[in-house]
Amino acid sequence: MNSSSHLSPPKRISPSRSRVPAHYADDIEQMLISAPRIRSRVAEMAKVIAGDYQGKRLVVVALLNGTILFLADLIRHFEFPLSMDLIGVSSYRGGTSSGELEYTKRLKLDLRDQHVLVVDDILDTGKTLCAVKSELAKQRPASLRTCVLLDKPEGRKTECEADYVGFVVPHLFVVGYGLDYDERYRNLPFVGVLRPHVYGAPAGSKS
Ligand code: 5GP
Ligand code: MG
Repeated sequence: MNSSSHLSPPKRISPSRSRVPAHYADDIEQMLISAPRIRSRVAEMAKVIAGDYQGKRLVVVALLNGTILFLADLIRHFEFPLSMDLIGVSSYRGGTSSGELEYTKRLKLDLRDQHVLVVDDILDTGKTLCAVKSELAKQRPASLRTCVLLDKPEGRKTECEADYVGFVVPHLFVVGYGLDYDERYRNLPFVGVLRPHVYGAPAGSKS
């Protein structure tokens, strides 16, 4: 498959003082990306992806759990038949080893000769996406591309980059729109930064 992607470069998001809805204000310090902004960028991404896969049968493989909202919103724009499967992975954090993954849910679909788009929530070190890509590549898909909503380039420890990127975010721990802290905040309709007290740091410290 040729690389004919015309997605406009992802906007670099800087921490702003956008108003956090009152009912989240105790836990969320800043709103980074508002719901309407996410909505329009996801629509833009879907349009470009749909164009790139025109006439092809797409297999979407999404990583649990952080992609749930992004995935649901993205694929709803596609007006062509596609197959979808989910994989669950958790990386061995803290180790020096090369992004070895533990699978909590394995893929059911056979990817051989298929056009595969891997969807993840956020690209940080790149270890997860790199490891998943090389695992899926073993099945010999016809093409294999990656799509992430968020990218934190300052965190990168691998050569892994995504083909489609929604937003470039600062090197902060973000939650919302599928992303969690301790399994909370996935349901937030926006992406925000947690207040330090939520993860036990003294007030005024930085994440
Ligand atoms: P990587 O392997 O690229 O370091 O990490 C990717 C995974 O780490 C993401 O799929 C996500 O689950 C988690 N992650 C990385 N940065 C963040 C963040 O800022 N917030 C949340 N909630 N998860 C993150
Ligand atoms: Mg994840």
